[in-house]
Amino acid sequence: MAHLVHQLLTETAQRDPSRTALIAGEARRSFLELDRESDAIACALQSAGIGRGDRVAVMLENSIEYVAGLFATLKAGGVFVPVTPSTKADKLSYLLADAGARMLIAPAALARQVLPALAELVAPPAVLWVGSDLPAGATGRLYAEALGEPHRVPADPGLIDQDLAVIMYTSGTTGRPKGVMLTHANHVNTSWAISSYLGNTPDDVVMCVLPLTFGYGLSQVTTAARVGFTLVLERSFAFPQETLKRLVRHRVTGLPGVPTVFSTLLGLEAAKTADLSCLRYLTNAAAPLPAAHLEQLCRRFPQASFHSMYGMTECCTRISTLAPADLGTKPASVGRAIPNCEAFVADEDGRRLPPGQVGELVVRGANVMRGYWNRPEETARRLRRGPQGETLLFTGDLFTQDADGHLYFVSRKDDIFKCRGEKVSPKEVENALYELDEVAEACVVGVPDEADGLAVKAFLVPRDGAALSEPAIRQHCRGRLESHLVPKFIEIRDSLPKTDSGKIRRLDLMEAAAPLPVPQPLAA
Ligand code: ATP
Ligand code: MG
Repeated sequence: MAHLVHQLLTETAQRDPSRTALIAGEARRSFLELDRESDAIACALQSAGIGRGDRVAVMLENSIEYVAGLFATLKAGGVFVPVTPSTKADKLSYLLADAGARMLIAPAALARQVLPALAELVAPPAVLWVGSDLPAGATGRLYAEALGEPHRVPADPGLIDQDLAVIMYTSGTTGRPKGVMLTHANHVNTSWAISSYLGNTPDDVVMCVLPLTFGYGLSQVTTAARVGFTLVLERSFAFPQETLKRLVRHRVTGLPGVPTVFSTLLGLEAAKTADLSCLRYLTNAAAPLPAAHLEQLCRRFPQASFHSMYGMTECCTRISTLAPADLGTKPASVGRAIPNCEAFVADEDGRRLPPGQVGELVVRGANVMRGYWNRPEETARRLRRGPQGETLLFTGDLFTQDADGHLYFVSRKDDIFKCRGEKVSPKEVENALYELDEVAEACVVGVPDEADGLAVKAFLVPRDGAALSEPAIRQHCRGRLESHLVPKFIEIRDSLPKTDSGKIRRLDLMEAAAPLPVPQPLAA
């Protein structure tokens, strides 16, 4: 039995060598080819001096090289640090320095972002460039050249399952991203838990439109390696019509998504008639799926089961999931804790609260991170001792739990605000707004207001071609919500700012909504 992440791949390659592991555009790799490719890159990393515990940053979009780079890093004994390819030079140098990366795998096409970032560093990492030529002014080696050598198995770095496998930066929804330290044991356990509740088999074909640089995307790779199913890698979801064609062509059985993926899919005319009969399951995580969209999805894909999931990078991406059988009776729930994980609603000392009460969700189990890389104070704030001395992770998310242990997301602790002295949970207002067919995206924030303290403001994006009228929106909300929750201000936009993982950036909208300071006259 595998106890290290890369052993999941090697075992599958031995069991089922010729099955397709990856499809990316017109390129494909079988499990054996992927195992061999990652062996070759691991040997190149080892010859460059990478060994146990060394950080290897990989700055690639969803691609075969990204997946091979992950397994190569682990086989060499290193710690994988995914970096979003759109990262600008200054943030890149911050991330590389923060992680202490000794090696970087990056596309030659991004040399203009990468080279200035390296120039800022005292001890820059060596670079393995993906592309046909070394970029002008660059040192390092070509990925393709490392692949060309005769097959060798990398030297055993002597890892144990408590060694770090990944340092993954959080989405940065609430501020600067933090590096979450995850061990081999975290990933081996969680990939087992996820593939068990999804009932994955080697015959699954899962489409990954999610960025592999975040936990939700990366978990598709670890579950695929474990089970031996095929992953179809999409670079992004920027061209949904094209993605839809590939969903049909590859007879995709599993589609993991975030709310914006599903709202786009629901708005696509072509999706109404496309043959998606192979689709066996859909999963949502990362942000709450509006109730109205859930209903529409269930109507549109009656043959598919829907898994409503919740998690965070700090818990190797997954904490809970709702069994599809419970969707009918508990549609608003994100389910119960996954195997080998306990999740409960607690007071500030980590003591359990009775069912129905709102409190912070606290987690313990095999999925919980080791801590934040280089951030002992933040680690101490999140990882604390419980009443029995056990390690508890405080999620920063407010929940309620029913008598059966089903969890209901209320809000991030920081998103709750008070209007006229009463609490506002943005999610409740957003859910009401999403009931309007004309609304594609909604985000509610509190804005400073003389009368209300903080007033409710809604940012809305209409569905293609739909018209939104403020009076109609308010009238709908008045029929659904308590009066203090009805948006006082409404702003209609073409799009909302998003994180790289596809979440709406509420903080940016709060900043945009705050009244501008009155300009001061220049001193004479
Ligand atoms: P940062 O920690 O850098 O501010 P982030 O919290 O968005 O960013 P992630 O670890 O990617 O980074 O996201 C985890 C968070 O996403 C959870 O703490 C929770 O607030 C939210 N979330 C995840 N799944 C769901 C869900 N199904 N419903 C509601 N919220 C969810
Ligand atoms: Mg977070």
